[in-house]
Amino acid sequence: MTIMLKSFFLFCIFSIGIIGTAYSANKNLQVDVIDTSRQQGEFFIVKLTHSPERPTLQFLEHPYRMFRQSDGSWRALVPIENLTLPGNYNMIIHAGETEESIPVTVRANNRAIQSITLSPSKAELRATESEKSRIKSALQTESPEKLFDGHFLRPSDGATSSLFGLKRSYNGGPVESYHKGIDIAAPEGTPVKSTAKGVVILTGTVEEGFHVNGNTVIIDHGQGLISIYLHLSTITVKEGKTLEAGSVIGTVGQTGISTAPHLHWGTYLYGTSVNPELFEGNSF
Ligand SMILES: [Zn+2]
Repeated sequence: MTIMLKSFFLFCIFSIGIIGTAYSANKNLQVDVIDTSRQQGEFFIVKLTHSPERPTLQFLEHPYRMFRQSDGSWRALVPIENLTLPGNYNMIIHAGETEESIPVTVRANNRAIQSITLSPSKAELRATESEKSRIKSALQTESPEKLFDGHFLRPSDGATSSLFGLKRSYNGGPVESYHKGIDIAAPEGTPVKSTAKGVVILTGTVEEGFHVNGNTVIIDHGQGLISIYLHLSTITVKEGKTLEAGSVIGTVGQTGISTAPHLHWGTYLYGTSVNPELFEGNSF
């Protein structure tokens, strides 16, 4: 559901089926927010038409680039980090001399704490600096061209064995992280496919020091959207290759820190992890 911002203020908190809209001081600036009440780990879809120049968007002190769409509008898929405190916030859009403040709500996703027991040999594995820095850098890629088009695909056949956003405690320790993707349980050797069209921007292997994530592929879908595939048994693509949606990139395995064969599938917007289930079967 899309509601155009008009020169009035209407904002409903925690209401079901009623979308909050935002105040607009300038009727020439048309901002659409598809749904202004979203959960932790989801994202806001913000679209701006008739902007005289490149707009800028700010949410929680963080600037987000807006990207030009084929219809001439500007758009950003603005991520809500999984540990953002639930509550009411303002998103700020600047376009030329005009500033818009859009009230938005972040709701709790109430994800549970998951206790994970690792064998001593797996527990001793630590991410190398190379693994950490190469992955972090790839996840923050922001290419202007929108390569994704049509419905996003589930990258492997198999049931979801672990949800996005679960807070994690390893071997009885404190909660320090959360699950930045979903796990798809599948036998070793099951094909893994790209969820959408994109360019391979990282392949990393256990031999190269990917001790935690195992054999890894990262794909850039453009406009700040990145997907990641972990614990692969084999990788069958090279960095720089352009893939269509559904192109095979490797096979399911249990390399890195993994207790059984599965695919870890993650989706990131501007370097922030969001729930991949929001993409599967949908188009944006
Ligand atoms: Zn996982």
